[in-house]
Amino acid sequence: MAAIAIDGPAGAGKSTVARRAASALHFIYVDTGAMYRAMALFMLREGVNISDEAAVADAAERAQISIRHENGEQVVILNGENVNGLIRTEEVSQTASAVSTVGRVRARLVALQQELARQTDVVMDGRDIGTVVLPDAECKIFLTASSAVRAHRRSLELKARGEAADEEQIRQDIEERDERDRTREISPLRQAEDAVLLDTSDMTIDEASEAVLALYRDRT
Ligand code: C5P
Repeated sequence: MAAIAIDGPAGAGKSTVARRAASALHFIYVDTGAMYRAMALFMLREGVNISDEAAVADAAERAQISIRHENGEQVVILNGENVNGLIRTEEVSQTASAVSTVGRVRARLVALQQELARQTDVVMDGRDIGTVVLPDAECKIFLTASSAVRAHRRSLELKARGEAADEEQIRQDIEERDERDRTREISPLRQAEDAVLLDTSDMTIDEASEAVLALYRDRT
């Protein structure tokens, strides 16, 4: 099966670019961050102490996470419930970053991601797709942008949804999450050796999506 692996820090535009590339190529878009977010929501609901690694690992066994696609959109199912509308809060973002440091959480979700990529052509985005999940993907991209640009984009997104946005606070939250993702022991965020670096700081979404498609076409 064909695969495009897109990794990079929070807010670099991975999901928008991946979604567009998937639609242009008729591949399935797999947002792996949403799976870690669903796991985080489960931990928050169960009141699990996030700093207790063994407790997180045990609780993870009770979380059944799967995805399905409806009208091209990924729907994340947590123990039978569609949780798409509940996983985009800042609390869930930070909790996802914390629970994703736990090996048993990663092992479960990586297995699910690999199974999806066995069944269908995918554009998959996350932090460890090119390095761990799909090391044989024919096209790997490391998408990045300065933290100021990433915070600005996120604040525009929030404002478009009618939510309050403090850009400086967003930048701090993003930097804190990146730092944790980059320095964790298991599967840290890093560019795979054979990945192409794409800095989207000065690119529009259209330009970044075109660049990804051009890279894929070059490699196949
Ligand atoms: O991509 P998104 O911001 O939704 O991911 C939320 C968090 O999930 C990230 O900050 C990261 O800690 C974790 N994650 C991960 N590996 C992935 C995707 C996401 O560790 N492949």
